[in-house]
Amino acid sequence: MRRKLAAGNWKMNGNAASLSELKTLKDLLPPNPPQVVICPPAPLLFRATEAARGTDIMIGAQDCHMQHSGAFTGDVSADLIADTGATFVIVGHSERRDTHEERDSDVRKKATSAWASGLTAIICIGETLDDHAANNTLDIIAGQLAGSLPDGMTTSNTVIAYEPIWAIGTGKVPTLEQIIEVHDFIRAKLVTRCGAEVADMIPLLYGGSVKPDNAATIFQAENVDGALVGGASLKATDFAPIIAALA
Ligand code: 13P
Repeated sequence: MRRKLAAGNWKMNGNAASLSELKTLKDLLPPNPPQVVICPPAPLLFRATEAARGTDIMIGAQDCHMQHSGAFTGDVSADLIADTGATFVIVGHSERRDTHEERDSDVRKKATSAWASGLTAIICIGETLDDHAANNTLDIIAGQLAGSLPDGMTTSNTVIAYEPIWAIGTGKVPTLEQIIEVHDFIRAKLVTRCGAEVADMIPLLYGGSVKPDNAATIFQAENVDGALVGGASLKATDFAPIIAALA
């Protein structure tokens, strides 16, 4: 069976005191929880892995550089992320593609770098509102998958997150039918890309305005294996019911 995963992307929110949410979340987890990953801002990674020690919660970063070391002021390598004890890294989030002009080829290199450091890459894709309105979603997704996914995907080194950009932080969510269509499409593309055996076991996450009151509906889709959650992951009391809907 495919593993289920709930990932919380704190984005540039929270501080050291917010890490107390990890303890609250641990206490609220259902029996036999799905995999839970919290991705705090980079300066909190080390403390977060300490705070998560002995719990079922794993820690991830929100981005990594494509090189392992060098003269890249202000950047953080996958090696350094792994050194904190984190085990996941988000790459290609639409906010990075937008504000840091990251292209598919950059995302692919970052994912490769993440793998080389032993991290699982959560590779993000998603269409803009204009693309959605023009019915171009599947073309955009196909292009992003072709460009952003490196060769060498395994069932453990890759998670794919579909995040329609127009759904992020807006309270707008695609219909269940739309989510099913895109996730089925991604799964089919993965089968072509790496064969059914691997493709069937790679978790596909939906992201974009996932909340406690819509999570159960979204998780009805057969090819939705979890969620990448922004705002509703900041407070354990919001994130826990989303995780419970997945369990
Ligand atoms: P929201 O859940 O706040 O819409 O954010 C989604 C997201 O971008 C997670 O990476």
